[in-house]
Amino acid sequence: MWYAEVTKRFDPIKFEMTRFGNPTISWGNYRFNKKLTRKTKTWWECCARKSHDCRCVAVTVDDRLMKLNGWHNHT
Ligand SMILES: [Zn+2]
Repeated sequence: MWYAEVTKRFDPIKFEMTRFGNPTISWGNYRFNKKLTRKTKTWWECCARKSHDCRCVAVTVDDRLMKLNGWHNHT
């Protein structure tokens, strides 16, 4: 449900690696840093967590966006 709604409305996610070797995802205008992985599930924190105190967290399962916890407080 969440996945369908999210992908209908937004861009697909792109998996990338920073030049420091940290995995990130890009999704629309937003980027997320990998926080933790459990089995096939991965939690990603918004890159603006420090600068904007953004608490938006993306969850992927098998490399597909499953859900977002919260929403960005910045553009
Ligand atoms: Zn954010």
